[in-house]
Amino acid sequence: MFLWLLMASFSVIFVLVYFVIYSSLLQPIAFLSHSIKDKDVNDNSLFRPSFNSTEMKDFVHALNDMQQQINLRQNQLEHMAMHDALTKLPNRSLLLDRINNAIATYNRYEGDFAVMILDLDRFKEVNDTLGHLVGDEILIEVANRLLRLLRDSDTVARLGGDEFAIVLHKLEIADIEETAQKINDVLEEVYSVGEHNLYLGASMGIALYPQHGEDPDTLLQHADVAMYMAKNQNVDFEIYNPEEDTFNVKQLSLLSDLRNAVSNDELYLEYQPIYSADGTQVNSFECLLRWEHPKYGRVMPDQFIFHAEKTGLIKKITQWVFQRAAETVSILHKYDPDLHLSVNITAWDLQDESVLSYVDDYLREFNLDPQCIVFELTERSMMNDSLRVRTVLNELNSKGIRFSVDDFGTGFSSLIYLTQLPISILKIDKSFIQSMNDNKNDEMIVRSIIDLAHNMNLQVIAEGVEDKETLSVIRDLKCDMVQGYIFGKPMTLDKVINLYPPLNGKPDIKLIT
Ligand code: C2E
Ligand code: MG
Ligand code: MG
Repeated sequence: MFLWLLMASFSVIFVLVYFVIYSSLLQPIAFLSHSIKDKDVNDNSLFRPSFNSTEMKDFVHALNDMQQQINLRQNQLEHMAMHDALTKLPNRSLLLDRINNAIATYNRYEGDFAVMILDLDRFKEVNDTLGHLVGDEILIEVANRLLRLLRDSDTVARLGGDEFAIVLHKLEIADIEETAQKINDVLEEVYSVGEHNLYLGASMGIALYPQHGEDPDTLLQHADVAMYMAKNQNVDFEIYNPEEDTFNVKQLSLLSDLRNAVSNDELYLEYQPIYSADGTQVNSFECLLRWEHPKYGRVMPDQFIFHAEKTGLIKKITQWVFQRAAETVSILHKYDPDLHLSVNITAWDLQDESVLSYVDDYLREFNLDPQCIVFELTERSMMNDSLRVRTVLNELNSKGIRFSVDDFGTGFSSLIYLTQLPISILKIDKSFIQSMNDNKNDEMIVRSIIDLAHNMNLQVIAEGVEDKETLSVIRDLKCDMVQGYIFGKPMTLDKVINLYPPLNGKPDIKLIT
């Protein structure tokens, strides 16, 4: 009896203990594991079952903590996958999503939106010269300026490098143009990074939905084509124009072909004479680059030099031009020992010291005096306030190479560099020369540049003189030299040599005009 009673009480105790364990532990755990199993992957809500036992409360608490950590990491990973690490702007994937959303919204409610691609001008120059830290600060500043300017509903994304994309909502063409202008103005403001004050610009291409594309890829591609157009035509922005697209497909293919142009021997030089203003004497020739493309024929430098600058290929090209110029001047010295050639060079070429050694090498190879080469650097390149560029420029000058400022008058720069850099010649940009007969302001600018140059002991060349009327005004203004179609278009070396009489002597002007 006692044993039966003992067994019965054990059983009761066992059932009670099981019941307590079941209700306070097993049941909550089973409940929780079902909840975890049933939870959707994207459901980030916390567990809220109310349990009585302290252990289970702690357990749920710990589980919720873990869930929050996972949510946080997941959000960070998602953010990283969809955003650019440097500027924190949306990246290409998120941009594509946003364009898809815009397409869905506009299909439902009707309306237009625009996709814009924006590429910074002169960024590579800054990045290469002043280093990536300065470049990074500029990109962050560009992102901030864009975000401040645009509405929250617009998307600003970074596609990589110095390329940004913007989705602008519900706008008329006039609004888009106004916004593009505002973007340009805000990006042209000075960037103060450390001790540097830097000026950059932007080129923008715009494609409209649905006229210029009905899916994100087409819209982006057409905005890209329009951006190349803007760069090529030196304007701030362009709206995509299908009629000009074939030309731009050509542009895009030129970009990849340019890499092999030097090694495939597709580049050649033409030479344009620079005359004394009275037209009696050829002082020099400017070397102008041409590219004989196997498919497109002759391609002019305006169509590919900016690609070369952007990709860094310009250094290889300038070296090739210099070598060819040195060889040419050594040939032409047989006809005129005083002749010199001018070679266009960019700030990019002056960023590293390799230019110093190849200039030395080629001058030695062709046994030349450095005085017979003039480097033409555009006014915009002169504005580059990088120490390295200035050092290389001064060093080339100390070897005897002279410098002239090309396209003078177009750079909107402070003229202080004229006193600080070793410059011998100013070349007045042809835009002033060609409009001076119709525009008194341009004539005044030309007159002032000539006076300024003479006061600083510099020589002046008027570029782009095409007619007698302009030539006579230029002469009256006491300009020293003239380059222009009136005296001769750029020509091949054979034609240059044909200008000279068989025996030593100056070219026959009648042959040229
Ligand atoms: P630039 O250095 O200012 O060269 C003068 C440009 O004006 C040349 O155009 C020349 O053909 C043109 N020109 C000269 N006289 C007249 C005229 O009377 N009327 C008109 N309408 N045009 C005239 P081109 O050869 O097309 O070269 C354009 C630009 O390409 C050059 O402007 C220069 O900035 C660049 N370039 C040319 N060759 C080289 C090169 O070897 N290296 C670099 N970095 N740039 C180059
Ligand atoms: Mg030039
Ligand atoms: Mg020029």
